Amino acid sequence: MATSQTPAPTPDAVPHVCSSTGERDLLTSCVHCGLCLEVCPTYQLSGDENNSPRGRLRLWREEADGRLAADPWTAAYTQDCVGCLACESACPANVPYGEILEQTRHAHVATGRTKTPFKLRIAAAMASRPWLFNFTMTPVRLLRRMGVLPHRFLFAGQPSATQSTASYAQQLMQQHRPTGPRVAFLTGCLMEAVFREINFATVRVLIENNVQVFVPRDQGCCGAMQEHLGLDGVDQLREQNRKAFNSHDVDCVVCNSSGCGLATSKALSDDVPVRDVLDFLGEQKLVQRHRPANKARVYVDLPCHLVHGQKLAGIPKSVLDATGYQWELAPQARDCCGSGGVYNLQQPENAKEILTRKSAFLNNAAGDPVILATSNHVCMMQWNSARNDGLVTRPYSVQHVIQLLDPLTVQ
Ligand code: SF4
Ligand code: SF4
Repeated sequence: MATSQTPAPTPDAVPHVCSSTGERDLLTSCVHCGLCLEVCPTYQLSGDENNSPRGRLRLWREEADGRLAADPWTAAYTQDCVGCLACESACPANVPYGEILEQTRHAHVATGRTKTPFKLRIAAAMASRPWLFNFTMTPVRLLRRMGVLPHRFLFAGQPSATQSTASYAQQLMQQHRPTGPRVAFLTGCLMEAVFREINFATVRVLIENNVQVFVPRDQGCCGAMQEHLGLDGVDQLREQNRKAFNSHDVDCVVCNSSGCGLATSKALSDDVPVRDVLDFLGEQKLVQRHRPANKARVYVDLPCHLVHGQKLAGIPKSVLDATGYQWELAPQARDCCGSGGVYNLQQPENAKEILTRKSAFLNNAAGDPVILATSNHVCMMQWNSARNDGLVTRPYSVQHVIQLLDPLTVQ
């Protein structure tokens, strides 16, 4: 397993990661039982205790208590964490690992112990300005439409080059006039700028199932990318979305990307419920797809931020059954695929090693064609890289589960 590039030591005092909570020292909540080690992808790859949840918590605690100087290896092991939150699900002591990780990453960046690559800072800055990001990514949408895919993470699709999801939803609402529950849809930054066809499919599926869809035009990025990178600006982005979504009368906010859903719930959950769109659809009476002669087999992978972040049991069976496909959970469906927000950009070797183990089954999976389905665009990109990196040599496609319900793509 590759270990992060070691940052230069800094003489700065180590900020206590939990000093801002004012309630309790989050770091003391770990009882060192080790039940999280089994589920941690970086510990499984390296066998290094410092690369486990328990080890990282210990390093952070030692620094916070002044028993360990600002050791560069602490920052390196922090960067090696995928942020999958599988350790939270496994932890009997309810250690809020994700919250501690978020504070630690931010402290390391703020004190210069972690250097964020320039291109990722630019990407985060662009993502927080949706109009600019959408405009800049127009060529990428066009290339995807043409099937020209200049990056290993990109997969083919038919995103609209010019029409926004907000405009499309308004158009379909006027045509169909659904009368059921009313939802506000978070379209996301990367989803809208690059993978917009998945947003369009989400609107079609919701409206076909009699859900009223409203897309606030003043919404912004959820802040997940900034959070992953430990950058400033998360609070401002959350405040922007609080204003955008709270000013409308809706039953809930729906998200079609589990990472964006988790980040948005941190901003809005006190005001309006934030729901994963598939979880929401699991409570609706869904139009059923019928594919009697179809030999395709769908393997469903569960994003970490769906099951460990949002703490959902999975994707509802009723939703997967409604696709009409033969489906089953992928082996190790609750384990991390290595995407981790921007982890596959920051730590590509580690991310590839994690995916190598997880994707191996596809080489011999039954079905013609084989479809890998999930519900997070970053996971979709990671799964797509398994083909481009030669980890999977047989043909397969990667799709969002909502696309399997889409009335426009019924085969
Ligand atoms: S978030 Fe994932 S990679 Fe990080 S310590 Fe927890 S289980 Fe390991
Ligand atoms: S499972 Fe929880 S309490 Fe046990 S070592 Fe891991 S983080 Fe600490």
